[in-house]
Amino acid sequence: MLLIECPWCGERSQQEFTCGGEAHIARPAAPDALSDADWADYLFMRKNPKGRHLEQWCHTAGCRRWFNVARDTVSYEIAHVYKVGETPPGVSE
Ligand SMILES: [Zn+2]
Repeated sequence: MLLIECPWCGERSQQEFTCGGEAHIARPAAPDALSDADWADYLFMRKNPKGRHLEQWCHTAGCRRWFNVARDTVSYEIAHVYKVGETPPGVSE
């Protein structure tokens, strides 16, 4: 079981959280201009890395807020927790 540090509530059991998948998926600015293949790519295609992965999580049994987590998919180690809208550590803008 993971212990996840909610930015607002502090460290809690993984059972209180829901993973929302890959973080930083931006909705296309002009969706009508996309081909069907590009739209399907936006909707369904996600990274599946072995190693560092940026994910969105919701504290569903707590404050119900969304935030982002940088987690290693091999070791499950959580390197960073950061709020939505913040730049993930180790990534320059
Ligand atoms: Zn919380």
